Amino acid sequence: GGIGNLEDKAIASVGRTLYDLLIRGYTQKQWQTDPRELSADIIGRLPVRFSFDDRYFADRYEGMPVDGYTAIFQRMLEHPKIAVELGVDYFDVAERITPRQLVIYTGPIDRFFGYACGHLGWRTVDFAREVHDVADFQGAAVINYADAEVPFTRIHEFRHLHPERTHTGARTTIYREYSRFAGRNDEPYYPINTAADRAMLASYHAMTAAHPNVIFGGRLGSYKYLDMHQAIGAALKTFEREVEPFFAEDMRTGGTAARRHALSPLSA
Ligand SMILES: Cc1cc2nc3c(=O)[nH]c(=O)nc-3n(C[C@H](O)[C@H](O)[C@H](O)COP(=O)(O)OP(=O)(O)OC[C@H]3O[C@@H](n4cnc5c(N)ncnc54)[C@H](O)[C@@H]3O)c2cc1C
Repeated sequence: GGIGNLEDKAIASVGRTLYDLLIRGYTQKQWQTDPRELSADIIGRLPVRFSFDDRYFADRYEGMPVDGYTAIFQRMLEHPKIAVELGVDYFDVAERITPRQLVIYTGPIDRFFGYACGHLGWRTVDFAREVHDVADFQGAAVINYADAEVPFTRIHEFRHLHPERTHTGARTTIYREYSRFAGRNDEPYYPINTAADRAMLASYHAMTAAHPNVIFGGRLGSYKYLDMHQAIGAALKTFEREVEPFFAEDMRTGGTAARRHALSPLSA
């Protein structure tokens, strides 16, 4: 039959031994959900290669913005026609938005609808910062701890994200990452996406039809596990397919364009 859940998919791709050693405990910590309840997509993100290439991704180009993501976005937003208001909750200003104004909502889709169909399952993470009196703590940007007994999932040492930089400091900063269920006041990070979540999501999708001026975007708006490049790719696609035509029609009709149909939320 088809391979539907994470455990079956993982065992089919790497075998029981490697599954037990590397995946079972980590998955338990990362999701606190029975691996048989989890979607096979999650493990589909993990590359299996029969070569000596030990990188995570197999992309031809890999890199970080020279000055980081904050700077890249600040520069893109430096435009006289772009106004940025930070620290404003969408729901505090929502009633001032008219149905003619196009909204791209990148928050959790269940929150948009006031949790009318229930709470979608999310995971969040906590980071614990430590500074160590060594130049190099672990020799790599990220090391995963697969054993169930170790309470954190991984340790980050960010200096290794920039191998092109020379580090002269005698100290280094690391973050231990802990995973847990997202409560109401936590920032939701990873959709758990059980069968019950997917059924609930379908109910929310149906409710989007009543909000034709709202595009639900991004990881939280589409309740999808998106990597950075997928989030950016989906945003560009949405701009071409939905935002640009809307404004083109708005220009043509002298500001009377209306999105008649609610389009389905972004897909990666
Ligand atoms: C711990 C962790 C590690 C990751 N590691 C990687 C990695 O190594 N490589 C990779 O490619 N990707 C990684 N990702 C994924 C990457 O961060 C996401 O794909 C990307 O940030 C998604 O962009 P987005 O715009 O969809 O959502 P977000 O970046 O989450 O942006 C959504 C924005 O909406 C805002 N918002 C939500 N609700 C409201 C509201 N009510 N009012 C106002 N604003 C609101 C939020 O504050 C946020 O700024 C990681 C994610 C996490 C959590």
